[in-house]
Amino acid sequence: MNNNLKLPIHELFYSKAGTIDTFTIEVPVFEDSEINIVPGQKITLTGIKIDDGICLYSEGQTLKVSYNCARCLKTVDTEITLETLEKHYYVTIPEDMDSDLAEEVESKNFEIDLTSLLKETVFLSLDPVLTCGEDCPGMPDYGAIPTQPTSKNPFTDLKDLLK
Ligand SMILES: [Zn+2]
Repeated sequence: MNNNLKLPIHELFYSKAGTIDTFTIEVPVFEDSEINIVPGQKITLTGIKIDDGICLYSEGQTLKVSYNCARCLKTVDTEITLETLEKHYYVTIPEDMDSDLAEEVESKNFEIDLTSLLKETVFLSLDPVLTCGEDCPGMPDYGAIPTQPTSKNPFTDLKDLLK
């Protein structure tokens, strides 16, 4: 299976500034030890023709994923909302452009490879530690939280801790 995501942007690139085009792509199923992306999902990207290049933009897209809880290893099926994605593509990146935001596109075939950008976006959208939730039985036990204050003076407990 070919997971490369090549977006043909030739037509948009030669449109007049302000032209908008929509691309729907199937999200590749990344090989990853942490998460699995449910196959066959599509997301929509908006392409806008800007001076000298194009801007690719996507916001609020959701993706079904599954992963194993980092603490109890239970399988979790969930839906994540992807971080906003924005990238500008140029044949030659203007000098004043933020290099994180801009990327070059080959003028030979005018195709954008979205594989790494999408992968990056998916990982940015995940929690740093993937767990099954607050009720995870594998959570470290910090001891029961007292329901009643043991002392009226809030500093008494602190003094005990400092002993
Ligand atoms: Zn868990």
